Amino acid sequence: MIICPYCDAENIEGADECAECGEALWDLSVRVPASSVEGDLLRDRIERLWPKSPSTVSPNTPVGQVLKKMVDERIGCVMVVDGGKLAGIFSERDALMKLNTDAARFMERPISQFMTPDPVTLETNDKIAFALHKMNVGGYRHIPILFGGKLAGVISIRDILRYLTERIAAAAAQR
Ligand SMILES: [Zn+2]
Repeated sequence: MIICPYCDAENIEGADECAECGEALWDLSVRVPASSVEGDLLRDRIERLWPKSPSTVSPNTPVGQVLKKMVDERIGCVMVVDGGKLAGIFSERDALMKLNTDAARFMERPISQFMTPDPVTLETNDKIAFALHKMNVGGYRHIPILFGGKLAGVISIRDILRYLTERIAAAAAQR
């Protein structure tokens, strides 16, 4: 077995790419992080980003109320929670893509009709490199974070950019 450095999944010896995250494994034996920042990404876990507590709404919350909440709280997405379980995510992008100029007509409709159901989630102990990979491949800007299977927070591309900026500055300071 070889352990994927991005997502910690076990893969069979000789696998070209990780069955879990799709990253190339073939050159692992010779692979050394190209920079200290890449090393940080492969070592640090999502908890290090201090995921924000998520703003939540229920599936039957009207669209208009959800949009107002996002504007008031200056947030890019809300988690749609049904009976304590994550049912979906509604983001700025959903608002633009699905509501668009018809938004006014949909104000009273339940958010469940416009959310992205069953979103990809990660755990607090997943690696930041894995989160970056998921965002990159899936085109996600926000990923809900679970702790012990329960919704614990949300991370955004901005959180990862902030982390990268800090790490790059730290690496430069060490030189
Ligand atoms: Zn992997």
